[in-house]
Amino acid sequence: MTAPRPYALLAEITYRCPLHCPYCSNPTQARDNGELSTDEWTRVIREAAALGVLQIGFSGGEPLARRDLPDLVRAAREANLYTNLITSGIGLDDDRMGALRDAGLDSVQLSFQSDNSDLADEIAGTRAHQHKLSAAAKVRAAGIPLSLNFVIHRRNIDRLPEMIELAETLHAERVELANVQFYGWAFLNRATLLPTRQQVIRAREIATAAKARLAGKVDIFYVLPDYYESRPKPCLAGWGQRYLTVNPIGDVLPCLTASSAIPDLHAGAMPELSAKRNRFWRMSLPGRVADGKRREHRPGLRVVPKSRSRGRDLEQSESIKRPSIRLDLSH
Ligand code: SF4
Repeated sequence: MTAPRPYALLAEITYRCPLHCPYCSNPTQARDNGELSTDEWTRVIREAAALGVLQIGFSGGEPLARRDLPDLVRAAREANLYTNLITSGIGLDDDRMGALRDAGLDSVQLSFQSDNSDLADEIAGTRAHQHKLSAAAKVRAAGIPLSLNFVIHRRNIDRLPEMIELAETLHAERVELANVQFYGWAFLNRATLLPTRQQVIRAREIATAAKARLAGKVDIFYVLPDYYESRPKPCLAGWGQRYLTVNPIGDVLPCLTASSAIPDLHAGAMPELSAKRNRFWRMSLPGRVADGKRREHRPGLRVVPKSRSRGRDLEQSESIKRPSIRLDLSH
């Protein structure tokens, strides 16, 4: 049996990042060595295109930490992929913006910690907010479509109206109001990050009203929170069926969150992207034998135990844990 063709590749080209967000989805044990080379990523991009992938998201960590990012964007465009840069904006100076535009970058998704400078910098663990405002202006000046991503949690969820206003001010065409997904560092810090049920309900109302008010002007997406839904979040149509994720050292992951949700899954050292993908796609089928055990599961399904679904179980007393892989400007 052959897996259907995926259409999107998330290329996590580095785990390095100058920020220290307490909800970072980087693996908590990530190390900053062993990244794929430019040639290796170019090969991954070509193989993904041959599999049927149509779009690539350059992500991290902070993808701007890699000096060869314009080369990778150019390789993706030459493979006829739509290219999206998912970035904190730190390091996006005029030269790099020009190089990325000239390489053919199609769109930018810029993350924000808050609309409020002090709060944003506190969450980021460094002074970043002003750089982000500057980065947004550079993207728009380069004529590249801009999407903003606000990561929502207990500390900033009550500022949704102000965040949406900032997105309008920055002329974003798309806004994600993305509740924290509790993987990686976010899972370690869930006691501090998880909003109350009342906050989540109110935020959904605000996002729905804004979506209607700004229809045709700004696309607004409200990303559902973990833990307060009545059902598990939808799967990405089966591991590797629609999306592929390749991490900085070249592991092919079944879906965006598999590295933390399924820590023991290892696809093995296979030579080609298609072989790796076919293997874990078969593993994701219901009732298939995986790792020597028969598992009766639905593809990618992540069930949150009842006991974790109540905010009152969680105290705010835990200290915040932050990722610490630093940006190395020599790369
Ligand atoms: S520290 Fe923040 S900006 Fe950097 S990769 Fe993690 S979530 Fe993204």
